[in-house]
Amino acid sequence: GNNSMNAKLVLLGDMGTGKSSLVLRFVKGQFLEFQESTIGAAFFSQTLAVSDATVKLEIWDTAGQERYHSLAPMYYRGAAAAIIVYDICRMESFERAKKWVKELQTQGNPNMVTALAGNKCDLADKREVLTEASCVSWTLSLVSSLSSNATLVDEAQAYAEENGLFFMETSAKAAINQKDCLVLNQFSSQQE
Ligand code: GDP
Ligand code: MG
Repeated sequence: GNNSMNAKLVLLGDMGTGKSSLVLRFVKGQFLEFQESTIGAAFFSQTLAVSDATVKLEIWDTAGQERYHSLAPMYYRGAAAAIIVYDICRMESFERAKKWVKELQTQGNPNMVTALAGNKCDLADKREVLTEASCVSWTLSLVSSLSSNATLVDEAQAYAEENGLFFMETSAKAAINQKDCLVLNQFSSQQE
């Protein structure tokens, strides 16, 4: 068919979590070890064929620094989808992600599809934020302590479920799930 639509996608999350890297991986298939920090926000567009439709994604990659926070509504207003990125090696970035979730829940477009991406999953040995997926190796080494602290194990996954978010761990470096993350399967089916 010749269905075509535009969809605005915004990336939010703490500085250094890998938002620009995920976009760069998605748009150009590249990864930079020394990705420059984003000033304000960067714009990319990418056209995708989704079943019989053409979707032109307008991607807003925001800076993430606290001092740019007041600009954020400009970027998420009218967005069809938001990806909130945290770094699995930095608990603080996960806490910051939760603040973004709250802000979108209270001030964002209620139809917006929101996804939570735990990036840098290639750095599992430096992990601070646990998920069910990481539970396998943790269970092996920490059998007894985990059973007494089971809620910690799937912290990110459980949080995402409670808040109705898509969730996945990603790696811009190792090219894991970065595509799914930005395309958001369900997001495309929802628009049909
Ligand atoms: P942003 O501030 O959220 O846009 O983060 P950047 O994309 O600028 O990335 C910050 C740093 O993390 C850069 O040095 C990247 O090379 C690095 N980085 C980004 N994604 C990954 C990843 O998936 N794995 C690893 N190991 N490093 C990453
Ligand atoms: Mg950036």
